[in-house]
Amino acid sequence: MDKIAMTTPLVEMDGDEMTRIIWQMVKDRLIRPFVDLKTEYYDLGLPNRDATDDAVTVEAAEATKRLGVAVKCATITPNAARVEEYGLKQMWKSPNGTIRALLDGTVFRAPIMVKGIEPYVRTWTKPITLARHAYGDVYRNVELRVDAPGKVELVYTPADGGEVQRATVQVFKEAGIVQGVHNLDRSISSFARASMNFALDTHQDLWFGAKDTISKTYDHRFKDIFQEIFDAEYKERFAEAGITYFYTLIDDVVARVVRSEGGFIWACKNYDGDVMSDMVSTAFGSLAMMTSVLVSPDGNWEFEAAHGTVQRHYYKHLAGERTSTNSVATIFAWTGALRKRGELDGLPELSAFADRLERAVIGTIEAGEMTGDLAAITTLDNPKRLTTEEFIDAVAGRL
Ligand code: NAP
Ligand code: MG
Repeated sequence: MDKIAMTTPLVEMDGDEMTRIIWQMVKDRLIRPFVDLKTEYYDLGLPNRDATDDAVTVEAAEATKRLGVAVKCATITPNAARVEEYGLKQMWKSPNGTIRALLDGTVFRAPIMVKGIEPYVRTWTKPITLARHAYGDVYRNVELRVDAPGKVELVYTPADGGEVQRATVQVFKEAGIVQGVHNLDRSISSFARASMNFALDTHQDLWFGAKDTISKTYDHRFKDIFQEIFDAEYKERFAEAGITYFYTLIDDVVARVVRSEGGFIWACKNYDGDVMSDMVSTAFGSLAMMTSVLVSPDGNWEFEAAHGTVQRHYYKHLAGERTSTNSVATIFAWTGALRKRGELDGLPELSAFADRLERAVIGTIEAGEMTGDLAAITTLDNPKRLTTEEFIDAVAGRL
């Protein structure tokens, strides 16, 4: 059989621990036998990030801007324990944070649905994709603890020496707390465009909710920017595609999401997205079945699994024990990237391969062959609990 050709390479970002082991198996057993795989390889494993003073992360993000499509393995975000474990020069920043800042992207998370892993919400028959704004609000806040009576104000001092604006937050008569948050029109606009592009790309309706009735300037600005951009740039394209943009109060969105059948994109402000993505992914069954893609406003795509490096399983693996780690989200990161490369380069065979590999994964699970995390929650009778390697081989066999 001739291997499927590629023209432009993918940016390949290798990672850490159990997912690094899986990464190699997926390439060797599921992709390379069928595709003449072209990648520009960046080793984002923690030892190499340390050796390059984290320059490799920046280079990988720059390469993504140049080539347009990347696939990323899960990576360790170092904390004090990791600094000691790996003898690091310093506590390097989160690679995902660095890449997100350089690409100015929005993160979309979507569950992979299979028969036998049923969502906790009975009506959800289609996936719900969550788009989280990744800038500002409480994540860039400043906070004060107020110990005794006194006045707290917001003060804006224009850089050009114009008139100072003040607003009283609270005249404290007793101890309390206070916080200041901000956002930027430019960032909100990027978030709106990324969400609308993704809706067009995946042919799904877009929902957005904020608390504009209470927050008449701050949240209202989000609502207005979304509406202005929709009316000026997307209204006609949405109509042509037969999809809709829908804004309502965040409370109302939450109620409607639970009653819905799924099949739409839910754009969330930063905090809503943080909290709701954990709820939605859990309600769909498993974190190991959740894909994640970072989309930048100028059309660059970075695909990854939503879960981390599965450290606990890695230590078992190092101790020579057999693991049963779920590779589905990692495989779907690869298929997402290959399909997008196929679309951009006009290689329908490459995109069709991605579809076929995904069908092989879903078919394997629906036939009752799965890793331990799914075997524990499936509604199928007598599931076969496979090891990490056996599952990938079962998919390869079916493929
Ligand atoms: P994690 O790797 O997502 O794993 C947490 C637990 O979830 C695992 O111990 C396992 O539960 C279960 N799990 C997650 N993925 C699984 C899979 N594919 N198959 C089977 N079970 C799975 O999170 P963590 O242990 O908190 O973090 C480990 C490292 O990952 C950290 O250093 C963190 O910085 C990093 N991280 C990276 C990313 C990223 O690169 N995008 C995201 C999150 C975390 P059981 O142990 O009960 O089996
Ligand atoms: Mg969260």
